[in-house]
Amino acid sequence: MPVPGELTFAAPRGAKPPRHLADLTPGERREAVAALGEKPFRAGQVSRHYFARLADDPAHWTDIPAASRDRLASDLLPDLMSVVRHVSCDGDTTRKTLWRLFDGTLVESVLMRYPDRVTMCISSQAGCGMNCPFCATGQAGLTRNLSTAEIVHQIVAGMRSLRDGEIPGGAARLNNIVFMGMGEPLANYKKVVGAIRRLTDPEPDGLGLSQRGITVSTVGLVPAMHRLADEDMKVRLALSLHAPDDELRDTLVPVNTRWKVSEVLDAAWNYAERSGRRVSIEYALIKDINDQAWRADLLARKLKNHRVHVNLIPLNPTPGSKWTASRPEDEREFVRQLEKHGVPVTVRDTRGQEIDGACGQLAAAER
Ligand code: SAH
Repeated sequence: MPVPGELTFAAPRGAKPPRHLADLTPGERREAVAALGEKPFRAGQVSRHYFARLADDPAHWTDIPAASRDRLASDLLPDLMSVVRHVSCDGDTTRKTLWRLFDGTLVESVLMRYPDRVTMCISSQAGCGMNCPFCATGQAGLTRNLSTAEIVHQIVAGMRSLRDGEIPGGAARLNNIVFMGMGEPLANYKKVVGAIRRLTDPEPDGLGLSQRGITVSTVGLVPAMHRLADEDMKVRLALSLHAPDDELRDTLVPVNTRWKVSEVLDAAWNYAERSGRRVSIEYALIKDINDQAWRADLLARKLKNHRVHVNLIPLNPTPGSKWTASRPEDEREFVRQLEKHGVPVTVRDTRGQEIDGACGQLAAAER
């Protein structure tokens, strides 16, 4: 529960997040700086501090005259979010952060450190409007879209923690980003694509991360999937399929009543073709619901000979859920059916379960 009084600074409902450097293209940054009466090249200096040095304390901007620093910082780097709490597990190598945004809205991000890489899972919306019955975020509906800067800043904060050695294992760099936190990224299309540009534009315009290390996960908003293919980016697309047949998928992923399995898969293959990257098919294994051998066989027949990889996720039951993860023998048989058809498949390791790691659960507990 929020501490009484903590929300007294909340902005009125419907107010826009403050405009931030990370919302702007390099050209827009120069205009914003000029509007303050500063030299346009200061935009590049501030960008270098924020994106390349991860430094937002103007006291350290020694290349900018002291008189200009605070003006630039307060205009371009307003406070976007504050940490409500961190929760860690797996020997502190998985850390989930609950953020409070300027209007009191809560969102989550998760940092996962593996021996050979670091992945961050970030939110694109506060809440979600897609209403998938097994997902904690879906239960509360959509609060609002995040701004580009609110998305980017989750990553900047994680990169700072890694650099500063806050995560056990010594200082490290971030390798992968997955849009698998709260929200449906393709329902907040422009802000998400803007965020991908900021994350991947070379320093100092952006963070200089690799597009190949970014995964956008979607319920299957077909027009937006085509639009994303047209961006000609190298980000990976993950499609949350969860059932190979419309009858079941209509109930597990309600947007399927609008865009059917066949249409969604066609859009995925188009994306694979355009990006040159395998599409990841996400499939949460739910006991006796979608884990039958015949469904695995049907799934395999629909996927085989395409540029694809199946990611099976043991269901992480939400509080009060009537559903649970599949039996080990059913999971094994599901894998076997896919392999029989030559479809590449892995079972996702389920990190962070004891910290309500499943999508949306930490924010739900706070509410
Ligand atoms: N809206 C996007 C991204 C957010 S969810 C999407 O649906 O793809 C990221 C992934 O976690 C999705 O594949 C989603 O279906 C899955 N997921 C949600 N709740 C889950 C749960 N309780 N157990 C296992 N996977 C879950």
